[in-house]
Amino acid sequence: MNFNKKQLTIYNSLEGKKVLFNPIKDGFVGLYVCGPTVYNKVHLGNCRTFISFDMVYRYLLHLGYKVRYVRNITDVGHLVDDSDQGEDKILKKARLEKIEPMEVVQQYTLDFHKVMNDFNCLSPNIEPTATGHIMEQIEMIRVIIDNGFAYESNGSVYFDVEKYNRKQNYGELSGRKIEDLISNTRELDGQTEKRGPFDFAIWKKASSEHIMKWRSPWGFGFPGWHLECSAMSTKYLGDEFDIHGGGMDLKFPHHECEIAQAMASNGKKPVRYWMHGNMLTLNGKKMSKSIDNSILPGELFSGENDFMDKPFDPMVVRFFMMQAHYRSTLDFTSEALSAAEKGYHRLLNTINEIENLPTNVDSSESVLKIVKSFYDAMNDDFNTPVLIANIFEAVKYINSVKKGDETISSSDRQLLKEEMSTFLFYVLGLKDSNLKSEDRLSPVMDLLLQLREEARNNKDWKTSDKIRDGLASIGITIKDSKNGSSWD
Ligand code: AMP
Ligand code: ZN
Repeated sequence: MNFNKKQLTIYNSLEGKKVLFNPIKDGFVGLYVCGPTVYNKVHLGNCRTFISFDMVYRYLLHLGYKVRYVRNITDVGHLVDDSDQGEDKILKKARLEKIEPMEVVQQYTLDFHKVMNDFNCLSPNIEPTATGHIMEQIEMIRVIIDNGFAYESNGSVYFDVEKYNRKQNYGELSGRKIEDLISNTRELDGQTEKRGPFDFAIWKKASSEHIMKWRSPWGFGFPGWHLECSAMSTKYLGDEFDIHGGGMDLKFPHHECEIAQAMASNGKKPVRYWMHGNMLTLNGKKMSKSIDNSILPGELFSGENDFMDKPFDPMVVRFFMMQAHYRSTLDFTSEALSAAEKGYHRLLNTINEIENLPTNVDSSESVLKIVKSFYDAMNDDFNTPVLIANIFEAVKYINSVKKGDETISSSDRQLLKEEMSTFLFYVLGLKDSNLKSEDRLSPVMDLLLQLREEARNNKDWKTSDKIRDGLASIGITIKDSKNGSSWD
């Protein structure tokens, strides 16, 4: 069922309001999401952002768009102070652990993929790394210099923010004014290399002992963090693409700088819709590694952490996250997770009961209206909490049918089951993790026994024996009796 594809609205951070989504090319969506810096295990705050955009990706797919989803891996250039100062986060980790930087990258990329898999996130179509796109970054820097918006200084290249701002509007995404930036700027090392205090490095000179460095027209160095996303999004999605996402904390300076770099290189606004997910907080404070206020996914699943009373299943955590809108902050507490756990299990039980509901000629409720309410919620800037509330309304109706207070027709029963499953499992990306492998096997075995029965009725002994012997070879025995066949 494809309701209201043309009615999806998205809150565009650039405009500060919800607007109708209109892709550049009909039927296609280019989606770029800033990926993790792989110097550490991702914490649940990071996961929230990636899970939010997984839901966005899933809904766009569900609406029938052909989506190219690009999410990068930052494996160089992200410095400790998130700006131009300090050591590269990956190099620092490599130094502390006495391993190669690429070992750090490999280890934490694998960890990130495992966690994404635990949370049932779909893989992006392209997952480019910054170190794999050095040539593209050097090329973009050259163009920005040629266009007069960047300059070389002592082997580093800086973006000239003031000059750019004379022609364009630096601060249009974050709403900051350059005058305020001037008054807030601290004097740090390397400032003397810059013409303006808020200029940012798009290429940094590497010292002789620096390991991760590349040859460039400006000597040996490495690219700036902001530049990698501009170079990779342009390469795979073009100079102008539909949606760019990331956490709220990336709006400034990271995304502001991305806009400036793209405009300075080709004069085009790179992104139509900027989407920013809000922060996950733990006991009221932003979850963050640096202030020791974070839980790793594995610690939450195993229960080995100082914050929660018990372990939680990844799907309960995902459901809990989906109960908040992606633009609202979400506070992680043991009580809130336990409440989500109860609600989620109630939902799963109800879905599994739908096919046993008694049917009637007519339905006492409009199932189409219920289904439309699912689409309306998602079309309203991916409002997953309202979607879940509407799914719970359907649960109430199902329970009333069960009690005999309301009725449902057999076609509506089928439709409701399909749509509830689609929204819960496909769009929200949940899985019935209660289903044990034996429960999953049971319907498959029923099907096989039915096929064998049909083969026997048709005197197709070859097929029926093949099924029996094949199952025997993996340790499953079929027992035939007067009442039919069973398996053990
Ligand atoms: P990083 O690896 O630091 O570049 O962060 C990866 C992603 O996680 C970015 O989109 C951040 O905005 C996001 N992020 C970091 N901390 C949080 C948090 N506490 N809640 C939600 N998202 C976060
Ligand atoms: Zn980025």
